[in-house]
Amino acid sequence: MKNLESLIKTYNDFPQKGIAFKDILGIMHDPEVFRELILKMSSNKVIKSSEAIISIEARGFIFGSAISLQTSKPMVVARKPGKLPGKLIKENYNLEYGKSTLSIQKESLEKFNSYVIIDDLLATGGTIECVANLIRKSGKKVNGSVTVVELAELHGRCRFDFPIESILSI
Ligand code: AMP
Repeated sequence: MKNLESLIKTYNDFPQKGIAFKDILGIMHDPEVFRELILKMSSNKVIKSSEAIISIEARGFIFGSAISLQTSKPMVVARKPGKLPGKLIKENYNLEYGKSTLSIQKESLEKFNSYVIIDDLLATGGTIECVANLIRKSGKKVNGSVTVVELAELHGRCRFDFPIESILSI
């Protein structure tokens, strides 16, 4: 997609030494590219076949919200600790540069039967795997995942038995 890669800046050794951090926030500085990106993500058949979107805090919310509006699919969120009220389902996970926990409100997961997971970037796949486990533990189906960027050399996609779609593989 024209211009997309030029809007993603790399910061070496952030947030820790050895990590080449891909800052996708520049995409929002160019609404035409952002719109084109959202239309492209929204046209993905994994999204079309899912009852709902699940987006991951925080950068996943930017793309998940826009795709939800574009496709009229409901959106559920997976959040970091201490952010969500009510009964939660939680799981710990490892990502490229650390460990964390994600939670989803039980009630929100109960509402829909099949999900597509939306995030900004796939690195090792630990984050998406965590959300997939939470969805499956609740007896619901994961149809696939759609991200803006995939760091191909980390082979995150090999962890999954569902379709992994990315707009830009770098
Ligand atoms: P992983 O679980 O290793 O696939 O990491 C994916 C999650 O961590 C996404 O939510 C990304 O926002 C973030 N992330 C991991 N590695 C990077 C990176 N090199 N640049 C930007 N974000 C990253």
